[in-house]
Amino acid sequence: MAQEDIFKKIVAHCKEYGFVFQSSEIYDGLSAVYDYAQNGVELKNNIKKYWWDSMVKLNENIVGIDSAIFMHPETWKASGHVGAFSDPLIDNKDSKKRYRADVLVEDYIGKLEDKIEKEVVKGRKKFAEGFDEEQFRATNVNILRNKTKIDDINSRFVAALEADNLEEVRQVIIDLGIVCPVSGTANWTEVRQFNLMFDTKLGSVADDANTIYLRPETAQGIFVNYLNVQKTGRMKLPFGIAQIGKAFRNEIVARQFIFRMREFEQMEMQFFVRPGEEMEWYNKWMDTRLKWHKALGFDQDNYRFHKHEKLAHYANAASDIEFRFPFGFKEVEGIHSRTDFDLSQHQKHSGKKLQYFDPELNKSYVPYVIETSIGVDRMFLLTMAAAYDEEVVEGGETRVVLRIPPALAPVKLAILPLTKKDGMPEKAREIMKTMQMDFNCQYEEKDSIGKRYRRQDAIGTPYCITVDHQTLEDNTVTLRDRDTMQQERVAIADLFNIVNNKVSMRNLFEQIL
Ligand code: ATP
Repeated sequence: MAQEDIFKKIVAHCKEYGFVFQSSEIYDGLSAVYDYAQNGVELKNNIKKYWWDSMVKLNENIVGIDSAIFMHPETWKASGHVGAFSDPLIDNKDSKKRYRADVLVEDYIGKLEDKIEKEVVKGRKKFAEGFDEEQFRATNVNILRNKTKIDDINSRFVAALEADNLEEVRQVIIDLGIVCPVSGTANWTEVRQFNLMFDTKLGSVADDANTIYLRPETAQGIFVNYLNVQKTGRMKLPFGIAQIGKAFRNEIVARQFIFRMREFEQMEMQFFVRPGEEMEWYNKWMDTRLKWHKALGFDQDNYRFHKHEKLAHYANAASDIEFRFPFGFKEVEGIHSRTDFDLSQHQKHSGKKLQYFDPELNKSYVPYVIETSIGVDRMFLLTMAAAYDEEVVEGGETRVVLRIPPALAPVKLAILPLTKKDGMPEKAREIMKTMQMDFNCQYEEKDSIGKRYRRQDAIGTPYCITVDHQTLEDNTVTLRDRDTMQQERVAIADLFNIVNNKVSMRNLFEQIL
């Protein structure tokens, strides 16, 4: 099946099975804004818990906060967002479609990278056992040609962006022969910078002094609080502050479902370190974060690092963790070495000292910061894309199953009486009452047992139990496994342990510690 079709199916599945709805759908929706539905909110909460606990619970030197969305407007001047948080946009005059100039070039480079990967696959096939990938990449003429091309484009484009030379940015797009995917033409407008921050008014007097912004990232709430947390928590460097919360960006091009939204959620952690030690921590956090992703057990080949060529105004090193979505490798998380930029800026703009006194060195300084920043919604989309599976089962029927890691699954256990009579519903309800104190359970008695299994597969429920005649006699139930579809008879008394072993987040944490 074409990747595009798979993506369409995932989007349709999200709606049909109560994961994600278009916001204000009855009014034809609001562009790039989505609502999480009954199953979606459970999955989202579990993703957040996995992240939060892996930061705050598993690290003695990381604590969490929950800062306000609105911040003093000076914050965004200090952070550079008022002046520089913008994307270069370009329109196609024929289709009237708007694009981000940098994304057009990135996609072009992505195609060259795909060509390189295809060449490697060909080489692996041709040389079989004796294939030396490193040597192949270093010597194959097609790979080398494409690599040179990528390097040339990157250096020209990055130089243009850094010099804010928008005419040259446009020229790169024209010289590469990039055309609009809708009209197929290269009839481009000039490139303009567009600030992504939403603003609103505080209070009732509508003058400029009262303009405040919806935060475009959660990080600044951490920076302005760092000394409060350090002092009240008696934290010693290195230490981290984690936060989960909403962020808002007036994205120029918001396509691809929940991948790029105008209101979204971030999970960010700022790790404060001694100046000079930042590269060591940057590398460590890249490793740690990749492990966190890989512990979920999805195809390990679908992850890669992408090093930033053009660094943001605050960074001295930055890499993304990219995942192979149905529409290609794309960023899910950024790991940034932000230097002392933000704290120094806030020190300057607020006039308050934001230095840390290091008792070991017996001196004060502004710490350096390593940030890990991941979008909850992108992580949600990653999970749906990686978990979605269609499988032909006995009898030739196709079942759709979401192979969501059990610890993240919205519903952990479905409790199904075989029929609606002979005391089975009552017995099933009794089990439900005890299990729902520990797990998110669903009780279902409508339709055939086979149909009920399929509905649970489609939302990724790891276990179903069926209460039948035998249950009433010996207090056992059949336990069905989502992935293997195997059924076994187990005692009700053992259910808690069985389900708990399967769905506990411990299964994930053990792999990342
Ligand atoms: P992109 O290049 O895709 O616009 P970015 O580099 O601007 O992303 P960051 O500012 O580093 O993103 O934000 C950190 C994380 O927040 C991203 O890795 C992503 O997961 C998430 N994120 C950023 N913008 C959006 C958005 N518009 N919708 C959903 N998630 C987002």
